Order: sequence, then structure tokens, then C-alpha cells
Amino acid sequence: RPARLDAFGTTIFAEMSALAVATDSINLGQGFPDVDGPSAILEAAVRAIREGRGNQYPPGPGIPELRHAIAAHQRQHYGLAFDPDSEVLVTVGATEALAASILGLTQPGDEVVLFEPFYDSYPACVALAGAEHRAVTLRPGRGGWTFDQDELRQAITSRTRMILLNTPHNPTGAVLGRDELSRIAEVALEHDLIVVSDEVYEHLVFEGAHVPIATLPGMAERTVTISSAGKTFSVTGWKVGWVCAPAGLLAKVRSVKQFLTFVGSGPFQYAIAEALQWSGDFYVEVAAALRAKRDLFVNGLVELGYSVLPPRAGYFATIDVGDDAEAWCRSLPERAGVVAIPSRVFYDSDIDRYVRFAFCKKVDVLDEALARLGKMS
Ligand code: PMP
Ligand code: GLN
Repeated sequence: RPARLDAFGTTIFAEMSALAVATDSINLGQGFPDVDGPSAILEAAVRAIREGRGNQYPPGPGIPELRHAIAAHQRQHYGLAFDPDSEVLVTVGATEALAASILGLTQPGDEVVLFEPFYDSYPACVALAGAEHRAVTLRPGRGGWTFDQDELRQAITSRTRMILLNTPHNPTGAVLGRDELSRIAEVALEHDLIVVSDEVYEHLVFEGAHVPIATLPGMAERTVTISSAGKTFSVTGWKVGWVCAPAGLLAKVRSVKQFLTFVGSGPFQYAIAEALQWSGDFYVEVAAALRAKRDLFVNGLVELGYSVLPPRAGYFATIDVGDDAEAWCRSLPERAGVVAIPSRVFYDSDIDRYVRFAFCKKVDVLDEALARLGKMS
């Protein structure tokens, strides 16, 4: 009998980051910024350590200061009300939030609907839970990447328990609009499903507006919203994430979290609690700085003749190389000294035409990567 995770092996991010080091390539594979978050947030963590705040196990669900700050953030940005004590849980990054939500809210044999391309931890956590996933394909269209409603409906069976979505989306940079979210909500309401919504790129939006599906009519009571400080504050190594959900759902996620990690790192929670209280200008500046990098990199790729599917949000730009994109990507370090991710690994279907580049890097790094791609053999 195959072990549950046999099919998963080493993550593509670990594999490609190792390849970048081995070939001395520019790493546009794994999505992390090459400049740390603002010094105020770094200093806040140092201060917490020096002042002895959080150096011993913090409370299991997260320190109250951070849970209150997360609830205030959801209220201010989206008008969503969560009780900081019973409806907010601090996790070790969005990764643990996803794992605990899937493990806590599905039974073995249940089915989870995902949208492909999907973030790699989704199918792995569904498998860990002994559940199965079905994928609905996002396809590029005139209005951006979208899905077919019939395909979504066909993915629902009597065993479906959950729809797991990601907006803004990794790797396509799609921002699901109210229309698409309503179509997902309609299916969730009709079949009494839980929706888990991964919103880690919520503040890195260049076009359109991020809409949490929990704000749609009837959805607050069935939605588990997940986010993380890693992207918003450029501290991906801190691994501070969170879950907001109605108390009944949150209790199940919290009980799993206890046995995954018990608690998350203390001093970083104090620092993020502080940062979440900064003025709204911070979010505008972060998105504007990243938008400039997106424009530089996307325009550079277009000038080199690549077929680019421009992202509306997030860290990543996708190019369409027609076919054999995985082979194209695997030979890229040797041919150009640049590492990218073959989007093939984010699909169940046999779609092998897209390559994902992370552009959350310094301007001179992006310029050098473009120069190398331009000289490629
Ligand atoms: N979800 C998505 C869509 C991501 O891209 C990532 C990683 N960047 C995560 C979850 C994991 O976030 P974290 O680093 O907070 O665990
Ligand atoms: N989310 C980032 C990406 O998609 C980092 C992933 C990771 O290292 N697990 O590249």
C-alpha cells in the first residue's frame, strides 16, 4: 500500500532553489523578496526578544495583541467582524493554517475541490487528511484567468466537503472578481460546502480589488479565511499566519493546530501585532513598489519576444512557451543562469506550457535576469 505522501517527494521550491545555488543562477523560482521588511518591524521583533516578550511559549491560539490586531484588520479593510478570542487563530504561516483547516474540517474519503494551477501544499494536505481532491482548471481569457461554471459544477459529488480557493492567485496573479466569487458561493451554498480561502497576497494587488469571499451574502458562516504576514510585510521567514472563521469551524482548526506545532514563534507575533496597526499608506506603498517591479519585468519579457500573461497581483509572472515548459525550465539554469518554476507541477491535467518567474526581487537583479534571458543560447 503506497504511503499517503509517496507521490509528493521534495517540493519544487526546495529542488529549484538548490539548483539555483548549484548552478550559480539568479533564483526567480521560490517566491520570496530579496529585501527584508521595513526596519520598524525588524526592530519591533528585536525589542520583543530583548524585553522578554514571547521568548517562552506564547498562548496556543496566538497572543491576544495579535488576535485583536487581525480582527481589527479584517474589520477595517473588509467590514468583516471576528471575535478575537473565538474566531481568530494565529498559525505558523499560512502553510500551517491550510494544513490545520484541511485536517480539521475534512474526514477521510471526503473530496476537496481545488482550482488548478494550485499551490503545492493543497493536494499534499488533502492527501495527508486521507481526503481526495478534484481540480477545476483556471484558463486565461480576455478578462484574465477564469474558470468554467459547468466544470466547477461537475467537480461536485456527494462526497464534496470543501472548496479551497486562492485569491489573489499563485501562480497566475489572477484576482477573482465578484462575479467569479458569486459563482463559487452559489455552488457552496447549494451543496452546503465549507470554503477555505487563501488570501496571502491580499495587499499585493496592482489591478482590480481583492474581495474576500467571506463578504458575500451567506458566506461568512461557512468560510475559513487564511492569510499571512510573510508577503504583506516582506518577512517570509517569520512564518506568522492566521485563520479567521466562525467559532464552530475555528474550534476544529484550533484543535488540530495544537498537535501540529502547539504554538507559533512568540516575539514575531508581537512585531506583527504592531505592524498591523500601521496606517493604510503602508499597504499602498508596498503594492506600488511591487507593481513597478512587475512592469519592469513583464515589459522586459515582452521586449525579448516572450508571450507573457501579465499578473494583476502577487509575486509571479507567467510566460507561455507553447509546450514542454518543464523541460524548458529545467535546462534554463544551464542555458541562461536563471531559475524559474515549471507551472506543470501545479496541475493535475497535462498542461505543460507555462513557466513562472518570481519578480519580487531588486531592480538590478531583475535587469540582470532579463539580460541573461536575452543572451540565452
Ligand atoms: N499560500 C500561497 C498561495 C502561497 O503562495 C504561499 C507561499 N508563499 C503560502 C500559502 C504559504 O505562506 P506562508 O509562508 O505564510 O506559510
Ligand atoms: N509561496 C512561495 C512560492 O510559491 C514560497 C513557497 C515555498 O517555499 N514553499 O514560491
